[in-house]
Amino acid sequence: MPKKRGRDGDAPRAPFASPLVCAVLFAALLFLVTALALEGDLGSFLYGMAPTDAPVSTQAPVPAETLPASSGAVPTETPEASPALSPSPGPSDEQAPAETGFQMHVLRVGKADCLLLCCDGQTMLVDGGNTEDEDYIKAYLDARGIERLDYVINTHPHEDHLGALDQIVRAYPVGQAFLSPKTHTTRHYEQLLDALDDCNVPVSIPEPGDTLAFGGSTITFLSPEPDADFGEEINNWSIVFLLEYGRHRFLFMGDAESKAESALRDGPFDLSADVLKVGHHGSNTSSKQRFLEKVSPRYAVITCDKEEEKGEPSDKVLSRLQELDVKIYRTDEDGDVVIRSDGQTLFLP
Ligand SMILES: [Zn+2]
Repeated sequence: MPKKRGRDGDAPRAPFASPLVCAVLFAALLFLVTALALEGDLGSFLYGMAPTDAPVSTQAPVPAETLPASSGAVPTETPEASPALSPSPGPSDEQAPAETGFQMHVLRVGKADCLLLCCDGQTMLVDGGNTEDEDYIKAYLDARGIERLDYVINTHPHEDHLGALDQIVRAYPVGQAFLSPKTHTTRHYEQLLDALDDCNVPVSIPEPGDTLAFGGSTITFLSPEPDADFGEEINNWSIVFLLEYGRHRFLFMGDAESKAESALRDGPFDLSADVLKVGHHGSNTSSKQRFLEKVSPRYAVITCDKEEEKGEPSDKVLSRLQELDVKIYRTDEDGDVVIRSDGQTLFLP
């Protein structure tokens, strides 16, 4: 057994006189041998309490999943999203690996919808932007290492919610798709159906009260009722759903308008939510006062495009939200909006 250098090296003579000293020495030797085996480097153990060049646990606190990418389309995500709800530091901002927690990405695709939801390693795409958004959406997914979509939801069959979805379905394996009960006859919608069919993606039409386990979250579908009297008002046929993760609730409205909102208000579901994906791009056809009061969100995200002249988001909707003290994010001004939750704390842009 090689002699160990150590603090016991300068022990006085006759050290073995007492059994106690013997025991101490033996314990020290055992400790050193164990340390040597673990460290593989006695020098750093002896002299460097912090083995700064050790191969373990020195990685910088890299943001959980914001990396990358070379594509020009990559979003401007703030790496150090600040905890907004709990003033206490709680878990460190970036310690959660990409595989855990819930993330809601609202992509900047103009007056159109495309949301990427990630929860504990599972992925979901809600709507697929306009046709010309295909490259942007793919770049966004690729930059985050998304290789498959466990779920795809097309809230309703308007082009600004499914334009690129057929190409996304063809480019990524999709586990299951959810469609509105309302069909359409447009070419874009037919192309989506063809893509789902060609790729053998199972398709469901969810009904209110249906639930889905998505990572550690629970999704509850709230609307539309299959026999709703929305007629040809396709926006009102939007799939509306609530996602609960830990203590947080997220409400996704698609383009649902006031008629769907009032059916929801009269319905059996608790609509309260921390975060509201505002219906119909902030148009005044949606987000009516009584509905907003029922949801009582603290944060709202609006998918809109300033360049469009349709008056969206509507000043009326903005002021209704402001009066309720809701912090508003909008994709035309904020770019891609990413909100995360670890179940306890919300991390905001
Ligand atoms: Zn829309």
